Amino acid sequence: MADIRIDNLRKEFGSFVAVQDSSFTVHDGEFLALLGPSGCGKTTTLRMIAGLELPSSGKIYLDGEDVTFNRASARDIAFVFQLFALYPHMNVRRNIGFPLLSQGMANAEIRQRVEETARLLQIDHILNRSVSGLAGGDRQRVALGRAIVRRPKCFLMDEPLGTLDAEFREIMVHELRELHNRIHATTVYVTHDQHEAMAMADKIAVMNHGVIEQFGTPQEIYAKPATMYVADFIGSPPMNFMRFTSGLKSGDRSILLDGVDVVVPEIHEDMAESELALGVRPEHIRFSDASRLRGAVYGSEYLGTNQVVAVETPGGLIKARVPANRSFRIGETVGLEFSPEKLALFDCTSGRAVPSQLYQETRHG
Ligand code: ATP
Repeated sequence: MADIRIDNLRKEFGSFVAVQDSSFTVHDGEFLALLGPSGCGKTTTLRMIAGLELPSSGKIYLDGEDVTFNRASARDIAFVFQLFALYPHMNVRRNIGFPLLSQGMANAEIRQRVEETARLLQIDHILNRSVSGLAGGDRQRVALGRAIVRRPKCFLMDEPLGTLDAEFREIMVHELRELHNRIHATTVYVTHDQHEAMAMADKIAVMNHGVIEQFGTPQEIYAKPATMYVADFIGSPPMNFMRFTSGLKSGDRSILLDGVDVVVPEIHEDMAESELALGVRPEHIRFSDASRLRGAVYGSEYLGTNQVVAVETPGGLIKARVPANRSFRIGETVGLEFSPEKLALFDCTSGRAVPSQLYQETRHG
């Protein structure tokens, strides 16, 4: 297994910049998710790591070795595509063993490796079946088997669950993570689905227009989003933003929102005259009759264990995730209370989080 390090990687297609000077390291055995909407440069980044696309500038290191200009076949990497073409005329055993046969490995060793791989993926009972009759989940397992049978240094996966229906996707998310826990292969996984990334990855790189907006653990990215884009992309419903013009100075601990004092994490910069946004996740809002920050219930969505209630405030619509055991009338007035230690502040001009007590650990961590 191996570290993958990319250093100032850039890809231009004519005058269009698909990947802008990305740098990050995936440590040995780590699972990284490249997460972002369609067209943000995830696949291009992955293809450069695989050696299928040449960077315009920057370097790629595999286990410390500069492989930037090595051919794909000279990099010990397995690439699992979304639509992994299995050979329909071969059975499962021959599909999995094919990469080893191409390498010229002896039949007895191929047999042993294929059976070991099939046991790992729990498909040893279908080894002699034809792949054409297999269900989606089993086809993906065969595709994975074909990738891991070579025991490559790393895995690159491009939306491998994209074609599966929702039920299978959930099962495969769990299985892929389980498989990763067993074989600890360094993995880079491309997805536009935040749930997949959060459930599987050790680290996530959130991408936007070719730029990595934040690189961190799922917990860091969720609790301390570096930008408004990340705060909005991660979380369902996403973080609420309440805009205000700041008179904040370094050391301040509260802001004036809709004429009401709201306690926030201590600020470490003078922000007077800036347009700021207070960010709060729906689950960090409580309804309290004592709160002077008030709004009218606009609608609610019952989710079984809890409900999401939309509240119209003077600063805009706020969504709160609250217990399901209370019903609300449309138009009913409620008071909103926030957990101060969970609040984020953003500079609306740059979109970046304002240096504060909340962000101290992340910045120096
Ligand atoms: P998707 O999930 O839709 O594939 P993505 O985040 O993986 O999205 P990329 O496939 O990396 O995005 O594409 C990034 C941008 O680069 C897109 O705007 C795409 O149109 C452009 N692009 C990709 N390959 C080429 C190419 N060969 N020539 C020109 N533009 C390209």
